[in-house]
Amino acid sequence: MNHVGQVVKSLFLLELLRGLRLTGRYLFSRKFTLRYPEEKTPLSPRFRGLHALRRYPNGEERCIACKLCEVVCPALAITIESEQREDGTRRTTRYDIDLTKCIFCGYCEESCPVDSIVETHIFEYHGEKRGDLYMTKEKLLSVGDKYEKEIAAAREQDAPFR
Ligand code: SF4
Ligand code: SF4
Repeated sequence: MNHVGQVVKSLFLLELLRGLRLTGRYLFSRKFTLRYPEEKTPLSPRFRGLHALRRYPNGEERCIACKLCEVVCPALAITIESEQREDGTRRTTRYDIDLTKCIFCGYCEESCPVDSIVETHIFEYHGEKRGDLYMTKEKLLSVGDKYEKEIAAAREQDAPFR
């Protein structure tokens, strides 16, 4: 473009008007964005979010420390230690999931014979300092306790045979 053309463009703000025309074209069209967090996209029933350890209704931990989840985890994110209790049952003394390693494949919950470790629909969580995303047994049980009703309903819908 010659020099005169550029001067005319600058003088009449043609680039600005072209930009405003483009904005105006999309002003009343269907929106592709949502106002998160007030609005949320639909979640798949199979969405795999934050992990939780569940209990039976009598308060007993479901986990029997079989370590299947630890073995099957492709990211080596699960660490379990266990010991036998006085009543002869085996329970974990340590159950950790390092969420910075986890790839949310769902193998742990698929492998669990007692439906103990599950992945919830919770995706709004974060860590602010080192260790916040290292889920200990206490943290996992507290997530399970807090969301048990929702977890049980989702399991009933997704896998009623369990
Ligand atoms: S979801 Fe997959 S990667 Fe994450 S802890 Fe479970 S088995 Fe491991
Ligand atoms: S969470 Fe399930 S698979 Fe993992 S050790 Fe406990 S009982 Fe076994």
